[in-house]
Amino acid sequence: MRSGGAAPGMAAGAMLKHRRTALERVEKFVSAAYFTDCNLRGRLYGASRPPAALSCFQSPLRVPYGEAVGRRFGPAAVGDSFGPAWETCWFKVELSIPPAWAGREVHFVWESDGEGMVWRDGQPVQGLTKEGEKTSYILTSCLKESEPHSVTLDVYELLVDLEILLDMARLLGEENQRSFQALYAANQMVNVCDVTDPATFPAARDLAATIFGQRNGESQHSIHAMGHCHIDSAWLWPYEETIRKCARSWVTVIRLMESNPELTFVCSQAQQFEWVRSWYPGLYAQIQDYVAKGRFVPVGGTWVEMDGNLPSGEAMVRQFLQGQRFFQEQFGRICSEFWLPDTFGYSAQLPQLMRGCGIGRFLTQKLSWNLVNAFPHHTFFWEGIDGSRVLTHFPPGDSYGMLGRVEEMLKTVKNNKDKGRVNHSAVLFGFGDGGGGPTQKMLDRMKRMRDTDGLPRVQMSTPDRLFSVLEKESSQLCTWVGELFLELHNGTYTTQAQIKKGNRECERILHDVEVLSALALAQDSSFQYPASQLQRLWRLLLLNQFHDVLPGSCIQLVVEDALQYYAEIRRAGARLQEEAVQSLCGDLLQPESGHAEGTLVLNTLPWERTEVISRTGPAGAEVLALVTAPSMGYAILREPLPPPQPVTVVKQEDGSVTMENGVIAVCLDAMGRLTSLRLAHSEREAVADGCCANQFALFDDVPLYWDAWDVMDYHLETRKPVTTLLKPLEITLAGGLRGSASFSLRVGKSSTLTQEIVLDATCPYIRFLTQVEWKESHKFLKVEFPVQVRSTNATYEIQFGHVQRPTHWNTSWDWARFEVWAHKWMDLSEHGFGVAVLNDSKYGASARGNVLSLSLLRAPKSPDATADITQHHFTYSVLPHRGSFQDAGVIQCAYNLNFPLHAVPASCAQCPAWSAFSVSSPAIVLETVKQAEDRPDAVVVRLYEAHGSTAVTWLRSSLPVTEAMLCDLLEQPLAKEPLALEQQGVRLSFTPFQVLSILLVLRQ
Ligand SMILES: [Zn+2]
Repeated sequence: MRSGGAAPGMAAGAMLKHRRTALERVEKFVSAAYFTDCNLRGRLYGASRPPAALSCFQSPLRVPYGEAVGRRFGPAAVGDSFGPAWETCWFKVELSIPPAWAGREVHFVWESDGEGMVWRDGQPVQGLTKEGEKTSYILTSCLKESEPHSVTLDVYELLVDLEILLDMARLLGEENQRSFQALYAANQMVNVCDVTDPATFPAARDLAATIFGQRNGESQHSIHAMGHCHIDSAWLWPYEETIRKCARSWVTVIRLMESNPELTFVCSQAQQFEWVRSWYPGLYAQIQDYVAKGRFVPVGGTWVEMDGNLPSGEAMVRQFLQGQRFFQEQFGRICSEFWLPDTFGYSAQLPQLMRGCGIGRFLTQKLSWNLVNAFPHHTFFWEGIDGSRVLTHFPPGDSYGMLGRVEEMLKTVKNNKDKGRVNHSAVLFGFGDGGGGPTQKMLDRMKRMRDTDGLPRVQMSTPDRLFSVLEKESSQLCTWVGELFLELHNGTYTTQAQIKKGNRECERILHDVEVLSALALAQDSSFQYPASQLQRLWRLLLLNQFHDVLPGSCIQLVVEDALQYYAEIRRAGARLQEEAVQSLCGDLLQPESGHAEGTLVLNTLPWERTEVISRTGPAGAEVLALVTAPSMGYAILREPLPPPQPVTVVKQEDGSVTMENGVIAVCLDAMGRLTSLRLAHSEREAVADGCCANQFALFDDVPLYWDAWDVMDYHLETRKPVTTLLKPLEITLAGGLRGSASFSLRVGKSSTLTQEIVLDATCPYIRFLTQVEWKESHKFLKVEFPVQVRSTNATYEIQFGHVQRPTHWNTSWDWARFEVWAHKWMDLSEHGFGVAVLNDSKYGASARGNVLSLSLLRAPKSPDATADITQHHFTYSVLPHRGSFQDAGVIQCAYNLNFPLHAVPASCAQCPAWSAFSVSSPAIVLETVKQAEDRPDAVVVRLYEAHGSTAVTWLRSSLPVTEAMLCDLLEQPLAKEPLALEQQGVRLSFTPFQVLSILLVLRQ
């Protein structure tokens, strides 16, 4: 060590070359923990006074202001505690401000563990939370620039100066001379500052200003900072609380905007705007003003920030349709950026849906949570299954709740995997989830980084400004094709099975109500299409698709709300369907006296179906019948069809049961496992040699971090086949139109599973009607189908299409997908043969080697300790097939399983079968038929190419169509010229997975 003595004659105040002591000296000078008796921080607050009077009342209800002020307030004191959780306390606070404080900025300081809102003169004026130091409301700010600054404000500014300089000194590192320049300036400021004498402060501030005033060169990276406040529409709090969280946070943002003209704030989720509009109209009017000024910026275009995997294609379209229409109506423009910073993975169908809804830009950061692989881009083109591309940006700071600190700005540049290709990144700053968004301090930090040599340039910006410049610089960007799979939170495909079931079922209910109501409207223009009721029900469903509700990562209170919304959709949907059917075929529904009753069979799917249904027979009993129902139409069933070949069910001597229907043949052991599955008249076995399919397996399911969210790869090492038989397989229906057999198993310690295995005449798949009494803790139940098929890829249905994922674990990208999501079906095929597994309410799946698994139930304990502990009903199916899954009709079978035919008692009148729509190509699915949003005399039909092929089809309709126009997903016409209406219908051509919407104008 060198001796540290100063040379004689050296100037007083020359700094020693000891980096650590200099750094720590400055740290102590601004410390909130040490030396506050003599340091700068200790001078931050001036005089304070207790309230003149404080009173309160407490309520379990969220009472509005008007009601609250009328209540009786009892005495309260600072230091009292309140509770339990979810109670609301209203306080009346009387303050007296001493005359001596005149001219100063006076704060009302409120510290509590809860979130609060200050009301003044009947209006919400300030949100208060502990997070982000938002514990004060500025009562008066008499201070003007020209007036002498109060001591407190000078101290505050100096503290921010020193914080930035200290961060520069610490974080830029010893290889960077700016680190030393910042350190020496900070050290000198401490020398200059006499904390007891404010007259010394300006000289200290000048030292800082010199550093901040040294400019960058032209090439420096630009950071687009935007205020943000990510508010989960429900998560660890119920929907109702979110309404208040939005108000508290947004009023805080408005206050901050008033005093900071540069502040911009980006805000997503039409639902949250709608909540504030109806509950806080005064605040909403202020927000509208700032939206008009371009500072409060609506983004996202969707109703909520929904889950990116599980909603159906049509539900995703409705997220945008409801969202964009709301933004257009309320703010005069649609959003041009899709915004899902926190959602758990993104379907490969999204780029096309975004493009169809006026959006070509996408922002998220969630893939930075990947457990296994670092995503290789931050700015790139994302290409979907149909080839649509959108410009995508992941803020490289890996957060949507930054604090405006030096560290985050440096990380944003350092982390950015596309620097050099593009020179711009986003920083979203502000506390989320009730934390109140941006703060004054964040803004004051970033002001000092506007253009300071050594730091990236930080400017307040908007998504439009960021994406516009990225678009200009996009020539060197890379393209990522296919899904953006999040390598974490894979448990959310399965957690809270009742929510999953509610989602699938309600998507089906709204589909059916829309189809039948649209047909009723087309047949009788006096029919009142229930547009506003459907909008209300859709919005409930869309709200439940929020990224902590549909994934099941929410508390019990939220689950209860969600299940109630589903119950409401089921109830109202049943009534609306009845009204539509009544209007559509009212004449047929009146049983003529003396006649044997018939059955009206309605089919809401776009192909003819021949299926066994259950209907009310002449004596009132439920009887089975084989019926053929036309494509999107109805038929009267009088004499049921005889089955071409009856189902046979035979119990063998060893207790096994065989079933056959002329299409498929199965053999089941006493535990209900498939020991054989064949196509009838074929020797080709579908079950792998020596294995059993329909094998239940239980896994230990203890994740590392997030209980309801995560299932970890190591759970696969704990597999235990379920083999405890409670009731061996017994034949329950002897055959004919339907054969069935049932059995029961014990699962885990105390859960039971009962299954009825059903084979219907003519049906190419066998159904497993399953009931589980689920009482487990940290267990994962799956059902497995080891099949005699070899393929390195399995296929999974997604929104309006499908994706392939590997069945092997070659690379880290492959094994990170040990648990994936799918919609109604998954398939494993080799050339000429394959096996599909269909389901009516499940989303978790996997295919490893030759084993297809469907994920059935989990039992996480947090954040809902009661999650999934109840009775469950669900159905899945297995379907062996020749040829490809496309040619074998797997897609249609999965729809059939999910959209049962509707059977309604009717007269026995003669009535030819009636079909409203049909499509000539089996590759094309007509998914949606609904009334047009802005044209009561028109319907919109939506079709998609499902095989992954280029296809041409005729869309035939028996409706009185006078004009057909191609339109986008927001129902805006895409061409001036209408489509030609020809003898065979409308001719449509599709590229692989293309979605087309057509507006059909009806004759009145
Ligand atoms: Zn979130």
